[in-house]
Amino acid sequence: MSSNSTKDNISLKSYNTFGIDVNANKIITIEEVSDLRKFLEEDSHRVKNRLILGGGSNVLFTKNFDGLVLLNRIRGIEIIKEDEEFVFVKVGAGEEWHELVVWAVDKSYGGIENLSLIPGSVGAGPMQNIGAYGVELKDSFYELEAMHLQTLELKKFNTEECQFGYRESIFKQQYKDQFFITSVTFKLKKHPQLNITYGAIQSELKAMGIEQPNVKDVSNAVIRIRQSKLPDPKILGNAGSFFKNPEITISQFEKIKAEHPAIVAYPTTPGKIKLAAGWMIEQCGWKGKVIGHTGSHKDQALVLVNYGNATGDEVYQLALDIKKSVFEKFGVEINPEVNVY
Ligand code: FAD
Ligand code: NAP
Repeated sequence: MSSNSTKDNISLKSYNTFGIDVNANKIITIEEVSDLRKFLEEDSHRVKNRLILGGGSNVLFTKNFDGLVLLNRIRGIEIIKEDEEFVFVKVGAGEEWHELVVWAVDKSYGGIENLSLIPGSVGAGPMQNIGAYGVELKDSFYELEAMHLQTLELKKFNTEECQFGYRESIFKQQYKDQFFITSVTFKLKKHPQLNITYGAIQSELKAMGIEQPNVKDVSNAVIRIRQSKLPDPKILGNAGSFFKNPEITISQFEKIKAEHPAIVAYPTTPGKIKLAAGWMIEQCGWKGKVIGHTGSHKDQALVLVNYGNATGDEVYQLALDIKKSVFEKFGVEINPEVNVY
């Protein structure tokens, strides 16, 4: 296993974008699928708890991790087939997501440009079916390969088997912490149809003076919006939106709207309405509030931040307090999008 490195009793502070300082018993960097198999074969009788980590941009650690962290750094971007309409691109799960977007945009392949600048690894993308500006990973997904951490079986999953939902998949539910996603194959469009339904993209393109946008223009617009609105984790620890937007029925929505006419909501799946969790959190007075070493960001109420020395427990307690007050004011439950360990 020449390409792997192993470290013992190490701080995870630089391995999570919240910057929470907890320890893990051991970390191993995985660069090849064959090394993952070999390592798991040799190690399986010794370690019970295992955690797969990519960029650590969607985790909150509330305690030391009593086990082994598998740090995914499996690289590679390869076109495996193409036809008139699509290119099929197999990507090592340890590639950085945004690097893949840049690669696709440079070649004018369409489908993932709205997902520009999302931090983290390609392998974590299917985990919560990453989404932004009206586009989700599942829209360009073809299949993935994942290794079961106990049986070491390498299994392929198609779209249906991944059970993608709104910031959800089978890997965040019944298969949580069971499969190591090793590669993801995408189906990118050679003749892209752009999705600029979100008002922010339209305004940004207008501000850029672009009337006939291409994939690169949309990607640039998304990058500009994100850089102006979102706290950079290198400067202020965070894991993006802490909560998911809740989906409710139309009759629930009508009751809430009667009491809160300004509520921000969008139709999603038939019969369901998505409420903007950030708006509700702001209405509860949390936006910009600093509590100890943590708080809700001044420009993005949905983003909880670490002002320097926050513990994971402190951030999690704030999340629970926010959840409680949203429930008391709106009667709606909001749940974390971030994976809490
Ligand atoms: P990690 O944090 O390392 O892991 C997240 C979870 O996935 C963990 O449970 C981990 O065990 C599991 N996991 C990681 N890799 C694998 C693997 N190979 N196989 C199996 N399980 C695995 N998300 C969005 O959807 N849309 C956004 O627009 C968005 N914007 C963000 C902006 C900021 C500033 C930040 C900090 C985060 C944002 N996120 C967004 C959240 C985050 O970037 C994504 O969820 C991303 O996919 C996480 O990737 P990661 O490699 O950092 O995952
Ligand atoms: P925004 O544009 O201020 O919009 C607020 C909320 O309204 C968003 O959550 C979005 O839902 C929803 N929304 C806005 N326009 C919509 C439309 N035309 N159709 C359906 N829903 C609409 O949001 P923002 O906070 O600045 O984020 C912009 C985009 O980046 C969003 O898509 C958001 O999900 C994504 N983002 C995600 C994270 C994360 O960590 N998950 C972090 C930052 C940004 P959706 O969230 O469902 O799109």
